[in-house]
Amino acid sequence: MSANYPNISPKLWSIIAPHVPQSSPEQDPSTLSSYLKFKVEKSILDLKVKFTDKILDGSVTYIIKPLVDTKELVLDTAHLKIKNVTINGTIQSFELKPSNGPLGVPLYVNYDFKADEGFKLEISYETTKKGTALQWLEPPQTDGKKLPYLFSQCEAIHARSFFPCFDTPSVKSPFEFNIQSSLPVLMSGLLSKKTPLENGITLYNFYQPVPIPSYLCSIASGDLKDAPIGPRSRVWTEPSFLEACQNEFKDDTENFIKTAESLVFEYEWKDYDVLVLPQSMPFGGMEHPNCTFATPTLISGDKENVDVIAHELSHSWAGNLVTNGSFEHFWLNEGWTVYLERRILERLHGEKHRHFSSIIGWTDLENSIAAMGSTASRYSKLVLNLKHGDDPDDSFSTVPYEKGFNLLFHIEQTLGSKEAFDPFIKHYFEKFKYKSLDTYQFLDTLYEFYSDKKDLLDTIDWETWLYAPGLPPKPDFDTTLADECFSLAGRWIKVISNAPDSLESDFSPSDIENFTSNQNGVFLDKLVSYQNQDGFDWSSKNGQKAIRIMKKKYTKYENSSNAEVIFRWFRLLLTAQIQSEYQKLADWLGTVGRMKFVRPGYVLLNEADRELAIATFKKYEQSYHPICKAMVMKDLGLN
Ligand SMILES: [Zn+2]
Repeated sequence: MSANYPNISPKLWSIIAPHVPQSSPEQDPSTLSSYLKFKVEKSILDLKVKFTDKILDGSVTYIIKPLVDTKELVLDTAHLKIKNVTINGTIQSFELKPSNGPLGVPLYVNYDFKADEGFKLEISYETTKKGTALQWLEPPQTDGKKLPYLFSQCEAIHARSFFPCFDTPSVKSPFEFNIQSSLPVLMSGLLSKKTPLENGITLYNFYQPVPIPSYLCSIASGDLKDAPIGPRSRVWTEPSFLEACQNEFKDDTENFIKTAESLVFEYEWKDYDVLVLPQSMPFGGMEHPNCTFATPTLISGDKENVDVIAHELSHSWAGNLVTNGSFEHFWLNEGWTVYLERRILERLHGEKHRHFSSIIGWTDLENSIAAMGSTASRYSKLVLNLKHGDDPDDSFSTVPYEKGFNLLFHIEQTLGSKEAFDPFIKHYFEKFKYKSLDTYQFLDTLYEFYSDKKDLLDTIDWETWLYAPGLPPKPDFDTTLADECFSLAGRWIKVISNAPDSLESDFSPSDIENFTSNQNGVFLDKLVSYQNQDGFDWSSKNGQKAIRIMKKKYTKYENSSNAEVIFRWFRLLLTAQIQSEYQKLADWLGTVGRMKFVRPGYVLLNEADRELAIATFKKYEQSYHPICKAMVMKDLGLN
C-alpha cells in the first residue's frame, strides 16, 4: 500500500495501483504553468471594459510565495497582448514561448525566486478578439437591442485568454476585482464599492474572500437590473425581462439553499445571485461563485426548469468549495453536484422524484455514450486521461455528470441507505473545503470514513466504475413516475395501430393534466422513439390523424412556454411531417440561443425542408453566439 493512501483496502489497491499518480494529488496535465513551485496568496484584477474595441485592458497582480528556490515562473496565457511584467515594482524581462495548441502560450518570467520569500507580481496586458473566454455581444444580440453586452465562460481552460494565470483548478486564492465600465458589472464575488468616474464610467470593486480557481472567475457587463428572489439572493438581467425572472425563481431559491445547507453545511459565500443572460447564452448554466450564469430558456413561466438552479447552487459546495484537481477528475465536480441536486429534489418533492430525475439522466448517459462513436473508449471513462495535450473541452460530456452521480448513488445503496451515506457527505466537504483533490484522495477518504465497512465497499466493482469505458452497472430505480409516461405513450401507439377510429374517444386532456414538464418530456420522447419501430410511422395517415387529435386534446403543448416541452413537441410534429408546423419551428429558432435546442432544431428543420433551414439560419445567424453559430454551420454542412 502506498503511504499516500493508507486507508485503501488491499483489494482496491490491487485495482488502482497501475493508475495512481507518483505524487498526490495528481499533477494537472492541462496547464503549462509552474504552479507546483508557488503558492498564490491573493489575486487582483484591475481592468477597463472597452466595448468599442471589444477588449479588456489593465493588469493582474499576484501576491505569491515560492515553495522552492527556482529561477523561473511560468503562467498560462492564450491570445493575450502582454505589455510588461514587474516584480515588487521593478520591470522584469519576460518571454512568450511558442503556442502549444489548445493549451495556449506559456509566459516565462526569469528571476531569482527564493523559497518562502514572498513577492508581488504584476502583469499589464490586454485581451484580444481571438480570445475564447470573452463574448462581446452587439446591441442587436441583446434583448434591449440598444447597448452592448459582455460575458465570459472560462471553464475548462479559457481563463488563460482572460488573464495570465496558473490556469489549473489546483491553484486557488482569494480575489479582488476592480473593474471600470460604462455599464453595470457583475463578477465572481461580492460588490464592496461603486465609484462614479468621468465620462459615464463607473469603478466597481468586488472581493472574493473564499479561495477560488481561475476557471470560476467571471465577468459580465451590460444593461443589468436586479430584483430580490430570496433573503440572500437577487436575480440580474436586462430590464424588460426582470419581472419574469423574479417570478420564476423567487419561490424556490431560498428553499434550495436551506435544503443544501441541511445536507452539507452552511452556505459559505454569503449571497447567492443569478444572472439571466441574453438568448445568445449557448449553455444551460455556469456556477460562478455568488453569481450563477443562466440561460433565459430556464424562464418558462411554470417554474419547471428550476432544477438547473438546484444544480448550479449545489456547485457552491461541489466544485466551488471542494474542487477537482484537474479536469481528468471532473466527475468529482459534476457527479457530486448532480448527486446533491437530486438529494435536494428528494427532500423537497420526495424520493420518487429523485429516481425519476435519475432515470432521465440515465437515458442521457446512454445517448451520450452512443453518440461518442470511436472516442467512447477514451471519454466514457470516469477517470479521464488528458495527458497528451488534450483540450479538456473535447472530453466534456454527460459521463462525468451521470456516471459520477451513479457511482455515488451506488456507494449509498451499497452502504444500505441515504442515512448511512449522509455523515460522509458532511465529512468529505468539511475535509476538502478550500482545497482541490483527485479521485484517489476521494477513495482514501471514503475507506477511512467507513473503516469498519471496508468489506462492504470492496464489493463495489471499482475496476468497471473507475476505468472501464461504456455504461456502468445499471442501478434499480423506482420507475413510478416514468411508468405513467411510458404507459400513456404505449396506449397511443396501440390505438393508432389497432383502432384508429377510437382515437377521438380514447384520449382526453386529463391524461396529462398532472404531468410535470419532465414527465411531458419523457412522454413526448417516448412517442418519438416509436418511429420506425416495427413499421410504425408517424407520417402515415393514421399517425398524422393522431397528431391532429393530440393537438386538440393536449393544447398545453402548443401553448407551452417551456423550451424543453416546446422543442420535444416540435420534434414529434416534424417526425410526423406536419408541414404547417415547419415555419413555426423556424420562427421559434429565432427566439432561442441555447445549443441544446438550436442545434437539434436546425437538424430537424434541415431534414424536413433544407431550403427553409438555410434561409432561417441566414436570417438569425447574427443573433447566435459564435460557438453556436459555428456548430450549426457544421451541422448544416455550410462550411
Ligand atoms: Zn455542473
